[in-house]
Amino acid sequence: MLTITTLKQILAEPKKIVVTTHYKPDGDALGSSLAMFMWLKSKGHQVHLIVPSDYPAFLHWMPQQEQAIIYTENKVISDEIIAQADLLFCLDFNGLARTHDMQEALRKATALKLMIDHHLDPEGFDDFRHWTPTAAATAFLAYDFIVNQLDDRASITPEIASCLYTGIMTDTGSFRFRSTTAEVHLVIADLISLGAENAQIHEFVFNSSSENRLKFLGFCLLNRLVVLPEFNTAYFSITKDDLTRFNIVTGDTEGLVNYALSISGIKLAALIIDRTNQIKLSLRSIGDFPANEICAKYFNGGGHKNAAGGHDNLPLEEVVQKFKAILPLYTEQLTS
Ligand code: 5GP
Ligand code: MN
Repeated sequence: MLTITTLKQILAEPKKIVVTTHYKPDGDALGSSLAMFMWLKSKGHQVHLIVPSDYPAFLHWMPQQEQAIIYTENKVISDEIIAQADLLFCLDFNGLARTHDMQEALRKATALKLMIDHHLDPEGFDDFRHWTPTAAATAFLAYDFIVNQLDDRASITPEIASCLYTGIMTDTGSFRFRSTTAEVHLVIADLISLGAENAQIHEFVFNSSSENRLKFLGFCLLNRLVVLPEFNTAYFSITKDDLTRFNIVTGDTEGLVNYALSISGIKLAALIIDRTNQIKLSLRSIGDFPANEICAKYFNGGGHKNAAGGHDNLPLEEVVQKFKAILPLYTEQLTS
């Protein structure tokens, strides 16, 4: 593992750098990556931001997001850039499989790999890590890396501050999850003083739904929500037809699972969606219930205790049955 002192020495000379994040980046993944991209560029490095896939329309306003190279649409050139890089900054993931089709190129790369992340159980691909699993967001750690580890608060522009603000805001559910410590609020206050456009960011992220998306939400609440009071669990199961009928695109289902969790007394909520090639599960829980354990044990996934995800290759109805069959194993934790 590199020390921060060695890393500082490495970064003192211009380097070829690739910044990347996980498949289907969310606000934290894209926000922290864009912030790091802009900051590294301002230090004189040659930097590319390569994201494994497209991302939600509610993030299309983000500063410099148009600079991001989408891997799936630019595979040949991306592989070349990755192979030539001196350094790879990996943000908001700790297992290369989370980059889907990009993982092979990343695994083969000779570049030093730096990981800034807050997920449990790192795979160990990294040569340097700024990793705190209790941190509210990767953007929080990226702020800490620039400001406290590299002592460079002076280089945080309003655009960088806005990106970091977005990451922390989205990963804390607008500053309401348990991870929202006093320190998070202090960092947020500092980002606003550095120029983060806080009111505008909330507007961009939360008031940018399409009419379809809102009607889809209404449809799901009426027709696709199942409540299992005996297990304090609620879930949505969404078919391929539902997605087609409402013209659902990346990001449109973001936040849907929280409606199931918002029912009084519910401890576990799930969103089970029939995506193109497989079934995607999103789990959310309250308190100490380990949503990540269910995803890791049964659905090829993982995540945080209160927010986790996974996937399955069975048909939708069988995945729903499988999910329901797991609940009795957790009766005590769900009902105590
Ligand atoms: P979401 O439900 O929003 O897709 O994901 C919530 C959290 O679960 C993410 O922040 C991530 O930590 C985790 N997660 C989602 N999908 C996967 C997956 O396929 N594998 C792993 N290891 N974690 C996942
Ligand atoms: Mn995150």
